[in-house]
Amino acid sequence: MNNALVQNTKYRRDIMRALALFTFTGGLLFCTLNFIRGLYFLAALELAYSLFSIFLWFIIPKTPHLSRWILWYIIPFFIVMMFALSLPATSDAIFVWVLTIPLLAYLLLGRRLGFWVSLIFIFLGIIAYHLRFIDSSHSFSLNAAISINITLSALLVMIIAHVYELNRDKNENRLIELAGTDQLTGLPNRMKLDTSFQHISSLAKRHKIDFTLILIDIDFFKSINDQYGHDVGDEALCYIANFLNKNVRESDFLARFGGEEFALFITSTEPNQANQHIENIREMLSQSPFLNGDITINITLSAGLATYGKDGTNLESLLKKADERLYQAKHNGRNCIVFD
Ligand code: GH3
Ligand code: MG
Ligand code: MG
Repeated sequence: MNNALVQNTKYRRDIMRALALFTFTGGLLFCTLNFIRGLYFLAALELAYSLFSIFLWFIIPKTPHLSRWILWYIIPFFIVMMFALSLPATSDAIFVWVLTIPLLAYLLLGRRLGFWVSLIFIFLGIIAYHLRFIDSSHSFSLNAAISINITLSALLVMIIAHVYELNRDKNENRLIELAGTDQLTGLPNRMKLDTSFQHISSLAKRHKIDFTLILIDIDFFKSINDQYGHDVGDEALCYIANFLNKNVRESDFLARFGGEEFALFITSTEPNQANQHIENIREMLSQSPFLNGDITINITLSAGLATYGKDGTNLESLLKKADERLYQAKHNGRNCIVFD
């Protein structure tokens, strides 16, 4: 079963790996230079960081704790940067690195965490810059120009990174939403089923409540298409989807499983609650014909039910059981439900 309806973290892993390699090489280079210049503590920090980076390069592709490792990487990275910025012996060109703070923070940590990490370290970077370069022997206008330059350039990069990440996040969520929605009925589609199953089954387990999967198939739907045309068939499908959706509770999950089949997850605190619920829906649908102009189309459904725990604990086995019972319901003459 597909589980693609979650945010993609692969690009973050790729950036992190590229950075780890970059930091490993850069760290060794700076470590050598700073050692030659007699900045032994800084050189030792850079060596330790290089070794940590190469370790990350190996574990990043597979770790389930990506954000945690990124934080372990990025916070020391920025702290070392701040330490280097504050040393009088480092060159003033080192302040260019402040501009990389928002880019790295947003790309690696996303919008919320990226915002706070950027804000804190840009603020510290600007303070370090002021301590080193704002000089009372300068004219006020020179000091102001120095201050405005570093503050505005760092904030500009932060704003660009923020807007970029905000839009990337929104677009990804929009794509996830579209990928999980059935175009005709607007219901969640089969792709969404797996994600919802994980969510609802863990809730049911935690709260010790019953969890039921119901597969619904509309009876003789082909004859609606044959008799009235495919467009009317489409409208009938939308009517059915809307009818089912109106009659399930907010805590239930209804999806178009494919064609004229629907899947419904019901959680219940009382025994037989789900059976009674779907039985009522079947009864009501059979008494609510689809009206299209002067055409009246009677619609009935057949359904098969599977219970979490008794009939399986994964989606595949529950679907298989519900499908067998749905087949049985068709065999029993349709417009009925097979519970077990
Ligand atoms: P049964 O009672 O055995 O389920 O009979 P049935 O006619 O419903 O079953 P069958 O699976 O043979 O036919 C399902 C029909 O649903 C076939 C297909 O043309 C129609 N169908 C599937 N998806 C759509 C759709 O998106 N729009 C329309 N108009 N028809 C669809
Ligand atoms: Mg069918
Ligand atoms: Mg059918």
